[in-house]
Amino acid sequence: MTRVLLAEDDPAIAEPLARALGREGYDVEVRDTGQGAIDVASSGVDLVVLDLGLPDIDGLDVCRRIRSDGVTAPVLVLTARADEVDTVVGLDAGADDYVTKPFRLAELLARVRALLRRGGAEAGESSLTEVHGVRLDGDARRAWVGDTELQLTAKEFDLLRVLLREAGSVVTRDELMREVWDTEWWTSTKTLDMHVSWLRRKLGDDATNPRFISTVRGVGFRFERE
Ligand code: CA
Repeated sequence: MTRVLLAEDDPAIAEPLARALGREGYDVEVRDTGQGAIDVASSGVDLVVLDLGLPDIDGLDVCRRIRSDGVTAPVLVLTARADEVDTVVGLDAGADDYVTKPFRLAELLARVRALLRRGGAEAGESSLTEVHGVRLDGDARRAWVGDTELQLTAKEFDLLRVLLREAGSVVTRDELMREVWDTEWWTSTKTLDMHVSWLRRKLGDDATNPRFISTVRGVGFRFERE
């Protein structure tokens, strides 16, 4: 069972979040102090959700401490103030991603799934995916619609892989830019629209009446499960 450590001292956040993570099928351990989080993290967890504003030890120090203890599990940081989005500091401290409060539960859960899948893929899980007649082999970097192999560029392939992985859920433009282009959304997202449109063409999809990739206006894209 996937173990998730939730380090958050505000019960108004910790309780509903722990319930939501539990509903996703994770085994959730909640700690309300930095020291408690460090202790649980080193006992072996698959993912850490870490509030930066813990009462005893600063969250970034908690993150550094668990990294120096040799914990390699992904760390998703929760931060209260947008101007505290010290992405750089957070990543320096060894965090993998962050969400600013207040966050949408669905978005946080999507980030959690993405981080766990990334970890799982490294651990050698199957890289074969099939959704709605579209098949993708992550190791061979090949993709098919039915029996027809698609000729995809590297970015089109990465884009399809992320959309398939999250099939049925919307993937935000922000998340696609980070995962596929390894950059934040403030760089031009026209690139994203162009690639989505090329990918649709190759899939034989129609943007106005999509079978595979739906546009969720102002948010992102969703690969339809059926
Ligand atoms: Ca806090």
